[in-house]
Amino acid sequence: MDSISTKNATVYFNSEVYTELNNYIKTTKPSKIFILVDTNTHDYCLPKFLERVESGEIAVEVMEMPNGEEHKTIDICTGVWEALSEYNADRKSLLINLGGGVVTDLGGFVASTYMRGIPYINIPTSLLAMVDASVGGKTGVDLGALKNQIGVINEGKIVGIDTSFLDTLPQNEMVSGFAEMLKHGLIYNKEYWNILTHLENLDISDLDRLIYDSVIIKNKVVTEDPREQGLRKILNFGHTLGHAIESYFLEHADKTPLLHGEAIAIGMLLETYLSTKICGLSQEELDIIHTGILKTFSKVEITKQDQKVIIDLLQYDKKNSHGVVKFVLLEAIGKPKLDCVVSNTLILEAFDYYAS
Ligand code: NAD
Repeated sequence: MDSISTKNATVYFNSEVYTELNNYIKTTKPSKIFILVDTNTHDYCLPKFLERVESGEIAVEVMEMPNGEEHKTIDICTGVWEALSEYNADRKSLLINLGGGVVTDLGGFVASTYMRGIPYINIPTSLLAMVDASVGGKTGVDLGALKNQIGVINEGKIVGIDTSFLDTLPQNEMVSGFAEMLKHGLIYNKEYWNILTHLENLDISDLDRLIYDSVIIKNKVVTEDPREQGLRKILNFGHTLGHAIESYFLEHADKTPLLHGEAIAIGMLLETYLSTKICGLSQEELDIIHTGILKTFSKVEITKQDQKVIIDLLQYDKKNSHGVVKFVLLEAIGKPKLDCVVSNTLILEAFDYYAS
């Protein structure tokens, strides 16, 4: 597969990842190489990765953080900054983030801020990180229940997608990543959506191609609008309600936390319903999207009380301006509409539709 050029980096695939990474190390000669992993990628991905990285005389230090969204915090960043400092990392040091979106988001933020910025490379190991989190330069951490509230936009040098890491990814995490691929179809390309929702006709070997197509879509959008002034907002389809739902389930002890993609799938269903009311999405496409998403994602119970708190959480959404919540909705599959304003009554109606 050909590499993909982003604004400041290049995305490489499979064996080319190691050729290019090793070239990069040889030509830039980092003073030290740091690899950030989480508990799982330490066990499942690191041994295989180390076998293929040629670091020569350069010292390699591995830093491990606990896995899971609840650890995407400033406290963990402090631990990583301190570790970098203790190991005498300097501005010529390189940080490699080997993991899912939590590791690439947090590691990218740590690298962007340590000594005002050191170079970093993302090696995504989850499907979600491959098709979404590792591309586009958004880095950061959560602030309590507020998703990605703290962060900077700063691209790494290389994104290396080795799809063989997916061999050990649990099935529910594969499904979670699939939500973002579905989103790419819904906001950008109806044909891609159709392929994804008729996957029984495809062989698993087609997954590489589908990941590639998703990265192309994400990259086209972020290249045109790196700082989310306009077009990039379309990537937030399903995320306004999805993030609020994810935060709510993460923070409430009586709820089982949802995976990012599971929350986004609910958000997409709700926002698809809103699209029929606000910007003319047809009933036919509502049904198509509904069936397509529910093929992969089961429904989750969201009580009336939950709905109230979730709606309150919308006030913290980063797309809001002057206190008004702005949604990305769909006029049709592949045709998003930015900055839609929706009443709370309609959101409650969308929850009723979702429960029905
Ligand atoms: P994650 O990083 O928590 O990974 C999911 C789980 O899979 C973790 O337990 C991890 O340890 C495990 N794992 C990862 N790779 C594995 C492998 N190859 N084998 C076995 N286990 C493996 O979560 P995620 O779903 O990858 O990413 C979600 C995060 O990404 C969220 O924090 C979200 O905000 C962020 N995100 C960022 C962007 C962006 O543009 N920066 C876009 C979308 C999502």
